[in-house]
Amino acid sequence: MNCFDKADKKKAEEYARLVVRVGVNVQPGQEVVIRCPVEHFEFGRLLCREAYEAGAAEVVMRWEDAPCSRQFYLHASEENLAQIPEWKAESYNYYARRGACHISVGGGDPEAYKGVDPQRMHRYEAAMDEAVKTYYAKMMASEIPWTVVAVPQRQWAARVFPGLDSDEAMKRLWEMILRAVRVDGTDAVRAWEEHDRFLKGKCRMLNDYAFEKLHYQNSIGTDFTVGLVKNHVWEGGSEVSGTGVTFEANMPTEEIFTMPDCRVAEGTLVSALPLSYRGNLIRNFSLTFHEGQVVDYQAQEGQETLRSILEADEGSRRLGEVALVPYDSPISQMKTLFYNTLFDENASCHFALGRCYPTTMKGGEKLGGEELLAAGGNASMNHVDFMVGTADLRITGILPGGEEILLFENGNWAR
Ligand code: ZN
Ligand code: ZN
Repeated sequence: MNCFDKADKKKAEEYARLVVRVGVNVQPGQEVVIRCPVEHFEFGRLLCREAYEAGAAEVVMRWEDAPCSRQFYLHASEENLAQIPEWKAESYNYYARRGACHISVGGGDPEAYKGVDPQRMHRYEAAMDEAVKTYYAKMMASEIPWTVVAVPQRQWAARVFPGLDSDEAMKRLWEMILRAVRVDGTDAVRAWEEHDRFLKGKCRMLNDYAFEKLHYQNSIGTDFTVGLVKNHVWEGGSEVSGTGVTFEANMPTEEIFTMPDCRVAEGTLVSALPLSYRGNLIRNFSLTFHEGQVVDYQAQEGQETLRSILEADEGSRRLGEVALVPYDSPISQMKTLFYNTLFDENASCHFALGRCYPTTMKGGEKLGGEELLAAGGNASMNHVDFMVGTADLRITGILPGGEEILLFENGNWAR
């Protein structure tokens, strides 16, 4: 099975170079860990070559295979689910301690784990979280550079383009992904620098305003006000690692995002795109909030799935992320549901039900769960993004004194 034909090889190489140079920004002498599904072996090898060419001391390939992992989830004993072998945990923690950068290649079969008991997967993930917490902590605090990217895979392409034959669907998905990551024949590194300046500029503007609330309105029924926590921070684009190296944690990325006050939300939000949740689709839905909590909801399709999200825990009925994405951004213009958060999240203005990102509040990462909650930062086992951005979305920022500033008009930045 080939990932790309000869014509696209050059672009795939450019993409791999972009991931290595801009995504994790490999430094001479640094170790690089690459997590890659086996079906993407060609792209994995390109990444490996580019990393060595950038001066990597050692490139560690972590090949993964979802069908084999699926067998593990189906058959492993409870003990094996709950206990991560020491060597396995250490292989993550070791490289994190040494300051290695991490590249994660996604884009697999969206239904790879269909039929697996989600509770069993959840138990294993929880055990893994605990076993590799050194690695996660360094990643979440952006101490080490990391990036998540995606390349097409046949089942995924078939899900996105059900009407096309397999080769055609793969070709289309490749084209879209390359466009989304700005590998389009011009200088991709420069395009990313420019894009990053744009995102940083918007963050600076909103951080200077320090709005108390945002008000959303459009013609499909959204009329909604959300509070932002005190000392919230708008983030987006590149981050800086503990050693002062700039990196991009997500490629593509179009959003800037911050922390809503999970106690302050009033009115109704209407979905602009279907929400794909663990293989299930929720279409044409609306959520009505009062005092920060969802008090009413409706879905034309997937009502039960929506209910299961909202009823998972207390925090699942409240918001943990507010994100702004212009309607005329590249992924939005593709008008395609990707069944992959990396892309769908960057297609539209969105919110997330559930867990907040502690770094989106000044000093938030140093607060304990209780303190964060007391400051309005939501806690939950869930973090589910849903899209609300339409071509006619209007967003106004409300300052503590009540003054209103127009931020989005007709789906795009108004300033
Ligand atoms: Zn987001
Ligand atoms: Zn999110």
